[in-house]
Amino acid sequence: MASILDGKLIRDQILIELSPRVAALAAAGRPPQLAVILIGQNPASEVYVRNKIAACEKIGIRSRKLTPESTITTTELLALIEGLNRDPEVHGILVQLPLPLQVDAGLVLDAVTPEKDVDGFHPVNSGKLLAGAPGLRPCTPSGVMELLRRYGIPIAGRKAVIVGRSDIVGKPMAILLLAANATVTICHSKTSNLDEECRRADILVAAIGRAEMIGEAHIQPGAVVIDVGMNRVDGRLTGDVDPEAMARLSSAYTPVPGGVGPLTIAMLMSNTVQAAEGICG
Ligand code: NDP
Repeated sequence: MASILDGKLIRDQILIELSPRVAALAAAGRPPQLAVILIGQNPASEVYVRNKIAACEKIGIRSRKLTPESTITTTELLALIEGLNRDPEVHGILVQLPLPLQVDAGLVLDAVTPEKDVDGFHPVNSGKLLAGAPGLRPCTPSGVMELLRRYGIPIAGRKAVIVGRSDIVGKPMAILLLAANATVTICHSKTSNLDEECRRADILVAAIGRAEMIGEAHIQPGAVVIDVGMNRVDGRLTGDVDPEAMARLSSAYTPVPGGVGPLTIAMLMSNTVQAAEGICG
């Protein structure tokens, strides 16, 4: 019978472990602070930001929410970020995506100073990830690694297949699994025989953005399945993997909701504390 990899449980463990580090920073006169920039009225973004700020409050991280008008220009947003880069009280800067169409998202994300880039999206941090050097890692894949580690799931020497090659999930996930000595395959929309590739996996990670696309045909019996997907279907949150197939065939899996999502926020908190401690490499 498949066991459930409980993301909320691991999130709570991570947050409990971070609390004394936050307290120590505050006692040293350096209370960690996260600045979140939220533009426009995207309901999903508003929920994400609310959850991130709630997590900050839970462990004593200060938060600052900035809500510029949705008509903001790239130049104005760059100036806002520059101010936060220079502000010694701010240790982490998060620009909630998506940005309005008139804003150059690439320029904006690159403007966040790498030491405060708690999302881990800056090219300097991507480079450090590739090089295996210390740095701020993207939250979702590093959360998956934390989950695997804390559940004692062996990685070295095992076959990991990742479906999805985005810069924020699929690619960094592949690098982290490779660094942990998995034999890694990355699949995407042009992959031939996707089901066959997936069935090779001892660890299968789905980061696609297509509701329940991965099913029985893709899962090797006994595989560990990590479902990163978050898709809204008729108001319900669903993953990228068919939950019934995953529960029946896998040895362990992350549910949606309650799997990878909570870990992403926990790792954001971890990155903010790391940034405040000044140990980002
Ligand atoms: P992107 O849209 O940026 O990337 C999707 C990837 O899936 C692409 O590489 C794409 O391939 C691939 N893909 C799309 N269709 C297929 C297909 N039919 N067969 C194989 N591969 C396919 O998405 P993200 O990486 O940003 O997010 C993926 C999912 O994870 C989404 O559901 C998102 O909501 C969720 N997510 C969840 C988080 C969490 O905290 N739980 C955090 C971040 C994301 P190609 O490159 O060829 O186009």
